Amino acid sequence: MITQILERASQGEEISPQEGYLLLTASYPPEWLQQAADELRRNLVGEAVSYVVNRNINFTNICEQHCGFCAFRRDENQPGSYWLTSEDLVAKVEDALRRGATEICLQGGLHPQAQRQGSTLNYYLELVTTIKTTAPTIHLHAFSPQEIQFISRQDGISISDVLKELQKAGVDSLPGTAAEVLDDRIRRLICPEKIDTATWLSIVTQAHRMGIPTTSTMLCGQLEAAEHQIRHLQALRELQKRTGGLTEFILLPFVGAQAPVWLRRRVGREQPDLGATLKLTAVARLFLGRWVRHHQPSWVKLGLAGAVQALQWGCDDIGGTLMEEHITTMAGATGGTGKTVAELQQAIQSVGRPYWQRTTLYRPCQEVPELVA
Ligand code: SF4
Repeated sequence: MITQILERASQGEEISPQEGYLLLTASYPPEWLQQAADELRRNLVGEAVSYVVNRNINFTNICEQHCGFCAFRRDENQPGSYWLTSEDLVAKVEDALRRGATEICLQGGLHPQAQRQGSTLNYYLELVTTIKTTAPTIHLHAFSPQEIQFISRQDGISISDVLKELQKAGVDSLPGTAAEVLDDRIRRLICPEKIDTATWLSIVTQAHRMGIPTTSTMLCGQLEAAEHQIRHLQALRELQKRTGGLTEFILLPFVGAQAPVWLRRRVGREQPDLGATLKLTAVARLFLGRWVRHHQPSWVKLGLAGAVQALQWGCDDIGGTLMEEHITTMAGATGGTGKTVAELQQAIQSVGRPYWQRTTLYRPCQEVPELVA
C-alpha cells in the first residue's frame, strides 16, 4: 500500500488526503519517503537549487496580538520594543542594494498607532513608497494576509481596496505567512486573535486574482497532529488549483526556546525535531505534487545544516540571504540572522547539486545567467 502511494506520488500523480495521512503516520523505512520526494523534485524541477539575495526587514515588533508561539512581539514602551523610522528604512534598503539584493521582504507587528493622517493604509503606503523611491527596481515582497486584514479593519475599507492600493504603490508579492496551521481548532489554541482559515484563504485568493503572487507556509511541530497538517496541505493544493498564484511552499518548524512555558511544556522541546520536519517536508512535496513546484526549508529555524538535509527530502530552494532576522532569533533559534551568498552556494554544493540565483518569482537573475556546478 505505502509503496504504491509513493510510486504514484513520485510520478506526479495526485494522492488523496487519506493517502497523505498514511504517509505521515504509517510505519515504514523513512528512506522510501525521502527517495520518492527526491524523485518527484528531480522530475519537476531538476537538480539545480536556487537562492535569492534578499533583505528581511521587520519594521516594528509592537503588536496588538498575543500569539502563543511569538517571542517577537512587544507592547509599546515595553523594553525591547522598536519601530523603525523612515531614515532607518532607507539606510537598510541602501545597504541591501550595496550587497546585491534583488528583494526586500517587509513585515511587522500590528501596531495600532501605525497611521498617517488618521489612516493605517497611508502608513503602509508610506513604507512602500519609501522603499520604492530608494530602490525603484527592487522586488517588494511585503505584508502578510494578517497585515492586510489589519489595515482593512483599522480603516474600515475592503480587502480588495487595500490590496489594490498597495499594488499600485509598488508591492510586488505577499509573504504567505500568518497561515500557521490552516485549521481553526489549532488556530484558536495558538493564535486566537489571528484571522481564521477562511479569511486567510480569501485574502490570498483575492491577491492572486489581482496578479499578486504569494508564497505559502506552514508552522509545524507544536500542537497540531498529522490530520491538521494534511488538512493544511489540502487547503493549499485546492487554492493553487483555483488560482495558480503560489510561488513556493516553506515549512516553518516551531522554535520554542522563548515561547510561553505552557506551550513549551505541551510541545516538550525547544528546537525543531529534524526527523519529523524532514518527513513532513517530503510529504508536502509529494502531496502538493505538480501544483507547487518550489519547496524551501527554513535555514533560520533548522540551521543551515538542517536546511541542507531538507534539500535531499524534496526541496529545490535554500531561501534567502536575509541579512537580518528577528522573529525566529528572538524565539531562541540558533541558525543565525543572515547568510552570505558564498555560504548558501557552498551549502548547496555540499550535496553535489548546482546552484543558481533566482528572483523572488523564480526567474534567473540576469547577472547569473548560467547554472554553476
Ligand atoms: S506572530 Fe505576528 S501577529 Fe502574532 S503576536 Fe507575533 S507579531 Fe503579532
